[in-house]
Amino acid sequence: MSSESRDNRTIRAAAADLVQRLRDAGHVAYFVGGCVRDRLLGIEPTEYDIATDAVPDEVRGVFPGARLVGESFGVMLVRSHGHVIEIATFRTEGSSSDHRHPDHVEFTNEHEDVKRRDFTINGMFEDPADGRVVDYVGGQDDLEARRLRAIGEPANRFVEDHLRMLRAVRFAARYDLEIDPPTADAIRDQAGSLSGVSSERVGQEVRRMCTGGLLVRAVDLLAALELDVAILGDAATHGGMSRCAHLDDVDPSPSPNRFEPALAAWLLDRYGVDAVDGSRCEGVGDRLVCSNQERARLESIVKAHRMISFEWEEMDIARRKRLASSPVFKDALCLFAADHAAQVEAIEHEVKRLAATPSGLAPAPLVMGQHLIEAGLNPGPGFGDVLDAIYDAQLEDRLTTRSEGVALGLEMSNSG
Ligand code: ATP
Ligand code: MG
Repeated sequence: MSSESRDNRTIRAAAADLVQRLRDAGHVAYFVGGCVRDRLLGIEPTEYDIATDAVPDEVRGVFPGARLVGESFGVMLVRSHGHVIEIATFRTEGSSSDHRHPDHVEFTNEHEDVKRRDFTINGMFEDPADGRVVDYVGGQDDLEARRLRAIGEPANRFVEDHLRMLRAVRFAARYDLEIDPPTADAIRDQAGSLSGVSSERVGQEVRRMCTGGLLVRAVDLLAALELDVAILGDAATHGGMSRCAHLDDVDPSPSPNRFEPALAAWLLDRYGVDAVDGSRCEGVGDRLVCSNQERARLESIVKAHRMISFEWEEMDIARRKRLASSPVFKDALCLFAADHAAQVEAIEHEVKRLAATPSGLAPAPLVMGQHLIEAGLNPGPGFGDVLDAIYDAQLEDRLTTRSEGVALGLEMSNSG
């Protein structure tokens, strides 16, 4: 048994224990939402949410350590056996003038609570004591039919919160569901309103789409529902999906590491290799509120992909070794492989050959700045170029000792 599934069992037991303690205190309580959906799909949930008729003060009466997330929303965090579990009071939500937060909420029963939830597959309760599913919205039928359907009147539900349009795509892609036609129509009608949703929230949803589920499905749905332009700014100029599809093939499991490669695949498929450069990456980084680290990785992947596409054949040994040892080489090569399987085989063969040379692919530099300074060189303009040239010579096995490297450095600085 993996430690992961052991952990998941523990969180389930910890959450079930909280439900039981609420019931012992005379309240109604259930598992709700994603954990119910995932269990029905045979996926071990990693998160558990509890819904109850206990109002926040009553929840705190049962769990004195409970921490309020937002008083008006009645959501509390409770720690149990090392896990943090969310307990939310059954509530109705009024209309939303900012299309995000309800103007007011009222505590209510489970029947009414379901109506504020987004999709039927996310609107089911489960009794942890016996595994019974309490389903007022036909979520089980929809799961069986692999259908994503809004709870209630789709148009109203997307007006209340435009982000739900992206959540629809994310869940459809993650679980390979068809979006029910009335739900899809409502999304298409309101797609333009996505531009009013904060970039942080859109970025977060796109990040989640890229890191779990079928990328091709997500990208395809975003285009079909006309949500893509509001996300990326420009209309597509290419029709291909080959890189996204290839990424789904070779790397189908959800992983946070997939964000930048997936984003690169999407951009390259959508705009073509020539049109995806540093400034486009920067623009997308801004739109999706990416971290500096995410931006740097996206740009590096795109740059390495460009070098593999257009420069590899002409590169000397040192440049090939530098590229092949870059942390994003594997990601870039994977994207290139989508349309150039035979060339990739040749490149991989060449990389193996380079790795078997005496110096290997990425040896520790024989000569560092301090060695040149000790030999009397002044660190000034051109110093870095001298160091690079010495390292290139090392990579090409033109020198094998530090003194040879220092001698080359002195020679260069005298002639330069
Ligand atoms: P995931 O596995 O992605 O966490 P989830 O279903 O648990 O999926 P959450 O975003 O964690 O999704 O939300 C928990 C539950 O709260 C959902 O199942 C849904 O019932 C409800 N919910 C969350 N966000 C919204 C929203 N924007 N509109 C309506 N209901 C929502
Ligand atoms: Mg969740």
